[in-house]
Amino acid sequence: MPVPPIADTAWPHARAGATLTIDLDAIRANYRTVRNLAAGAECAAVVKADAYGLGAARVAPALQEEGARTFFVAHLDEGMALRRHVSADARIIVLHGAVPGAEKDCLHDDLIPVLNSVDQIQRWRGLAHEAGRALPSILQLDTGMSRFGLSENEIRAIVADPDGLRGIDLRLVISHLACADDPDDPASTRQRARLVRMRALLPPAPVSLAASSGVFLGRDFHFDLVRPGAALYGVAPNAATPNPMRPVVRLQARILQTRHVSPNDGVGYGLTYRPSAMRRIATIATGYADGFMRSGAARGCAWLGDMQLPVLGRISMDSMTVDVTDAPETLTRPGTMVDLLGPRRGVDDVARAAGTIGYEILTSLGHRYHRAYVAGGSDAFSS
Ligand SMILES: *Cc1c(COP(=O)(O)O)cnc(C)c1O
Repeated sequence: MPVPPIADTAWPHARAGATLTIDLDAIRANYRTVRNLAAGAECAAVVKADAYGLGAARVAPALQEEGARTFFVAHLDEGMALRRHVSADARIIVLHGAVPGAEKDCLHDDLIPVLNSVDQIQRWRGLAHEAGRALPSILQLDTGMSRFGLSENEIRAIVADPDGLRGIDLRLVISHLACADDPDDPASTRQRARLVRMRALLPPAPVSLAASSGVFLGRDFHFDLVRPGAALYGVAPNAATPNPMRPVVRLQARILQTRHVSPNDGVGYGLTYRPSAMRRIATIATGYADGFMRSGAARGCAWLGDMQLPVLGRISMDSMTVDVTDAPETLTRPGTMVDLLGPRRGVDDVARAAGTIGYEILTSLGHRYHRAYVAGGSDAFSS
């Protein structure tokens, strides 16, 4: 038997078991789509959770080049890390605000906290007093989601107190929609009406309500600033209409080995798959530790070009097995890449199979993929 050639693995992508390709051009195109839809409002960018798992250090500068000036993160630490990757005049807003005692870190790195509670307002006011000046601040109002923000009674009490907003330089008032992904849900219009009523109690300031799905509810929901996250990364804004966003991620995993299995065999943990006839199967180098949840096995598949390869048996930590019976052996040799996310199967498809949402698939993507960023016009989706 001839000795097969050994691949040159000096390049990380050549030795990687799986490659995650992130298309920065697609993220920029998605940003333009949302910005055009919300024309008249500022289009911020939400880059919390490391830009939904795609790498804020690369994603935020690309969005800044596209014109984004305001970035949202959830945790203070995320904001501090992001500071190094965007220009000094970029606004970074921390959705959770500061935990008690961390207010100075927030101020030091020029991060603007969202003040979600009376307690957070009091502590930020205290720091303003120490600093001897009013500090940029954002207020969140609870208009019905009961997660973050001040109630109408709390707002009334604060504005009735002459010192209530002393030292608070109010830059933006925000609220968040609970049901924006369903355009027919009346909860969104109820929340909007509450926001209009509550912001009128406060000194004049720009207002923001819409995240990705909210932008697609129409102009009434745009106010002065929109805060898309998921749509920038290709997730469908709602289930009612075809996804207008460009796909952003492609995940390719290698075939490590193939074998024949017969009706006497079982496959994987628990031997849950038992073939009813001879099958040929391939073991590929991605598992639940890489974000491919065990719950998605039954309806999971990989793609080899336009050939669908159903997942067989359980998903392991580092690998899964797929059916390659119908694929020619020459196309399924060890080292061959198959698509787990890509042109045939997007983030929302994988989410549906696993009983979850595209957001969770993106933010679960593992950290041991070789990551490749595409920018400057090359196409991540040509195979
Ligand atoms: C995460 C988040 C966003 C972005 O939401 P998407 O649905 O991903 O667009 C906007 N605003 C707040 C308050 C958030 O928590």
